[in-house]
Amino acid sequence: MTTFAELGLAEPLLFALSAEGYTTPTPIQAAAIPQLLAGHDVLGIAQTGTGKTAAFALPILHRLTEDKRRAAPGTVRALVLVPTRELAVQVADGFGTYGRNIRYRRAMVFGGVGQGPQVRAMSGGLDVLVATPGRLIDLLDQGHVRLDQVTTLVLDEADRMLDMGFIPAVRKIASKLPVKRQTLLFSATMPKAIADLASFLLREPVRVEVTPVASTVDRIDQKVMFVTRENKRNLLVDVLSHSSVNRAIVFTRTKHGANRVAEQLAKSGVTADAIHGNKSQNARQRALEAFRNGEVRALVATDIAARGIDVDGVTHVVNFELPVEPESYVHRIGRTARAGADGIALSFCDAEEVSYLRQIEKTIRQTVPIEPDHAWHAEPIARMHTSGDRRPGGGAAPRGPAKPQGRTSGKPAGKPAAKPAVPAHARPRGK
Ligand code: AMP
Repeated sequence: MTTFAELGLAEPLLFALSAEGYTTPTPIQAAAIPQLLAGHDVLGIAQTGTGKTAAFALPILHRLTEDKRRAAPGTVRALVLVPTRELAVQVADGFGTYGRNIRYRRAMVFGGVGQGPQVRAMSGGLDVLVATPGRLIDLLDQGHVRLDQVTTLVLDEADRMLDMGFIPAVRKIASKLPVKRQTLLFSATMPKAIADLASFLLREPVRVEVTPVASTVDRIDQKVMFVTRENKRNLLVDVLSHSSVNRAIVFTRTKHGANRVAEQLAKSGVTADAIHGNKSQNARQRALEAFRNGEVRALVATDIAARGIDVDGVTHVVNFELPVEPESYVHRIGRTARAGADGIALSFCDAEEVSYLRQIEKTIRQTVPIEPDHAWHAEPIARMHTSGDRRPGGGAAPRGPAKPQGRTSGKPAGKPAAKPAVPAHARPRGK
């Protein structure tokens, strides 16, 4: 098995890695680091949780140990573009951790906060700048920074940049960089627009692909729970009340939905907070910190807000609403399987979402096991799924094979006494 030392990394980095408790490189690190140290461009197909941050941060830091020159005022040496503020913080933290034994200057720039400190940080010159594209363009346009000294460009989570409409900004930024540079592009998926961007930005890249969707997904104990829309809240409170749930990320499709669910949880006695793009940077950082230190057990998030959340020890991911894009399902549930950990992913599926579930199962090439052992199980929806029908009760046979049960759509959400309040699936595997 390869070690970090065998990859050729400098000693200050090896010390930092061992202080962090990293013993062996992850597959993306083992594959990408030698290529990057050799100066190649790399196209990395890897999702979050694979160790991709260290895969690009370590070679950049290694360069800084070899070349002691530091960035001139107003210039940048390594530029890392990320789609969200949270990811910027996470990536910059990674540089902080791995580069703790090296003297160099780094900073972050992102929107939603005052520009002053960012401008000051850049005026001194930066060896590593982690930036979201929008704010960086503002600062470039105002002449606060020059990119003509950049030697390495990293694009992280390029597919998310695409989702967020950042590709024109990325191209504009790239046009300010020297042609002679090293470029790295990481993306969990490779839609055509990203493949096009890659061929525009990268020169003869080495393609490094790890963790095909299935292998991360395989480590996660996935369950689907069929439930009517109006019973989802009750089911969520039941699930989160279980003591095995240490840290849960609950996904909703909209910001408004995230707020509502967080409020309802708080009312039911589950400590929860919402995190999404409408919140101020401070409020988001506070919510993340409370989640990290255990004050808040459930973080309710939208897909985009959750991208940069780097919290280890997330025991459960709950899809309160199923995502429309199947890839988002993989991203979401991956939040509970960071750095090789196992986790539990529960998906609430109502009648409207059965078709999303089918798409997800096609994408992950698995059938998600059904968890019927909970108080709010809606059998007609389960049957819609298994029969491939679109309407509750099964459309092929006019009356359906069995009568819909009581706890289905249209019924008030009165809690039946017969079923256990704590669903069996809430227990971690093996306990
Ligand atoms: P990333 O995919 O970069 O978001 O990393 C996922 C998580 O894996 C982070 O929490 C890292 O701290 C952790 N990690 C990265 N590389 C290693 C490694 N070689 N050994 C153990 N943990 C790692």
